[in-house]
Amino acid sequence: MADTLHTPARPYDPHSPLAHLMELAAEAVDEGSEEEERDTAETSAAHWVYRAYTYSLAQAVDPDTWQGYPTVREHGTRRFEASAVASLGGGLWLHHTLHITEADGASDVLTLIVPCTCGRGYTDIVLDTEEVLLELLAELRPTHGLSLHDDRTPDCHSVQPVPALGGRP
Ligand SMILES: [Zn+2]
Repeated sequence: MADTLHTPARPYDPHSPLAHLMELAAEAVDEGSEEEERDTAETSAAHWVYRAYTYSLAQAVDPDTWQGYPTVREHGTRRFEASAVASLGGGLWLHHTLHITEADGASDVLTLIVPCTCGRGYTDIVLDTEEVLLELLAELRPTHGLSLHDDRTPDCHSVQPVPALGGRP
């Protein structure tokens, strides 16, 4: 690994005016604590389901089921927006997050995470509409909520098998 990712040592005294200014700047751009981000993620997931999945998910999933996660930041930039998940039972999950672009602003992304019949992974299905969800659930009924494993085009690789200890090159 190149050490370009290395943060250089801080060249100023922790009690210097610059150190104080850096702290003020960090507070000014902070968008809220992790706790607030979790709460907001839970609320926005519940709202989206209530608005867009009124006759299905809103009926079946209690708004309190949502569990929020804060924004994931890497080197000061936002890598993943805050998100929330809700267990549906049977190993199925809903995942909600916002897709934010400068051009379009924020849009809701709701994903159904379905365990695969092979038992080694999950298939992520991004939901467009309530109709799509209901058709999908109807397809999953015969397998009791499992997605059929397809050896030719395996799409259940969201969970990778844990590499054997010492097996790394
Ligand atoms: Zn599979």
